[in-house]
Amino acid sequence: MSSRYWLGIDVGTGGTRALLVDEDGKLHAQAMAAHEEIRMERPLWAEQRPENWWAAAREAIGRVLAESGVRAAGIFGIGLSGQMHGLTMLDGAGEVIRPALIWCDQRSQAEVDRINRIAGEAAILEATANPVLTGFTLPKLIWVRDHEPASYARLRHVLLPKDYLRYQLTGGFASDVSDASGTAMFDVARRKWSQTMVAKMDLDPAWLPAVHESPEITGVVSRKAAGETGLAEGTPVVGGGGDQASSAVGNGIVAPGPVSCTLGTSGVVFSYLEKPNYDPRGRVHTFCHAVPGAWHVMGVTQGAGLSLQWFRTQMAPGASYNDLMREAASAPPGAQGLYWLPYLMGERTPHLDAAARGGWIGLTARHRRADLIRALIEGVCYSQRDCLDLVESLGGAVASVRVSGGGARSPFWRQTLANVLGRPVVSLETEEGSAYGAALLAMAGTGGFGGVAEVCALAIRTAGQVDPQPELAGLYADGHRKYQSLYPALRDFFHPSS
Ligand code: ADP
Repeated sequence: MSSRYWLGIDVGTGGTRALLVDEDGKLHAQAMAAHEEIRMERPLWAEQRPENWWAAAREAIGRVLAESGVRAAGIFGIGLSGQMHGLTMLDGAGEVIRPALIWCDQRSQAEVDRINRIAGEAAILEATANPVLTGFTLPKLIWVRDHEPASYARLRHVLLPKDYLRYQLTGGFASDVSDASGTAMFDVARRKWSQTMVAKMDLDPAWLPAVHESPEITGVVSRKAAGETGLAEGTPVVGGGGDQASSAVGNGIVAPGPVSCTLGTSGVVFSYLEKPNYDPRGRVHTFCHAVPGAWHVMGVTQGAGLSLQWFRTQMAPGASYNDLMREAASAPPGAQGLYWLPYLMGERTPHLDAAARGGWIGLTARHRRADLIRALIEGVCYSQRDCLDLVESLGGAVASVRVSGGGARSPFWRQTLANVLGRPVVSLETEEGSAYGAALLAMAGTGGFGGVAEVCALAIRTAGQVDPQPELAGLYADGHRKYQSLYPALRDFFHPSS
């Protein structure tokens, strides 16, 4: 039995997860503690209490320690990951001033517009490598300044969700470059806070935490936190990462070549970047990676797994996803000329269009339900292909795709993805997401194994691979061209007044 362990903690939206890995990178134990419901006092608002994240973390840590039987002294390092973009505000005594405005809070469109006017859209892209979005931290902070001056007057520390846990664990104020990238206050190219954005928006730079590379030690568990968690006083806590960057570490996307494709409710294509290349139109996010000195780029299909989930609920209640995949496989490739636009919640990449709408195009009386499902899966894969093409144009040639998420459970979906992307699609043995990546970052920072890439090489094992079927390459290349012609043809329909 291994004598050295590393703890990964991920502050998700629904709950906080803690897991232990051993020195082979094998998962040893894990526990999840649920959060309170998201507070949605008004339309577009979404808030959570940071104290509740900490309570959930204490519960998850306690359960992992108890269930694994691992002694606290056997834990050599802790890595943190978490939901990005959330605004946590502390006063001079380290008290939480108000509930955190989390990533999906959308109240700040007016603030985004004002930031664009004050700082200038081109200058913002230059300073932060990304456009400002309502989800990001800065417009939330400006909202509080405008609407809650009493709260704003007390502000002394701005923290991201996982960094609030770090404060509770170590007493220090720190963040890491990947999570800081989603604040709209971070100079992604130079890996430091953006003086331009801080000055233009008239913020106090002293509020912002020290920023570290993800495997760097940022502090150690305090005596107080040791008492509250059962962890050992002095255990090092590394920088960790935002949930996407951490999850990519868990998938081994830590060098040029493979990209990851996560088929969850939304679909994310994630690629490693050696340089901070960004899309001047902001259709993909370019952020610092959790690998020191590297960046990453991310494209998003909003309605990936969501498309199938919607279909099952509305059109096939009672059917299992496996039933639906079997049915889809019975239709011919190309679904007899039927196309699905997965824009059920608008589309992020490549259209950046919240008003885009979904639908099937090309229906005839010949089509059966099997064709509808097959077209739906193919359409989601075409949208992922759009993401892949953009990501590849910034990050360089993509050799293979590592797939994860609910959709990846289906061999049919994996094969269709390989055919549409024209790349081998690889699945991994451990699919533990961000908490696992955070634990690997702790291993890289405190284990003496070398850097993040060396730890990933030791820990991550592939489980299977499907290759594109050459006989279908032409059909799917043609299908993708036709799919791509549909959005421009419908744009006026989505935007009647423009
Ligand atoms: P989330 O993004 O919410 O964490 P998951 O990664 O679990 O979710 O993905 C959920 C989606 O995965 C579902 O909406 C569904 O479309 C898809 N899915 C889940 N199981 C299967 C399956 N066996 N076959 C095909 N698709 C599946």
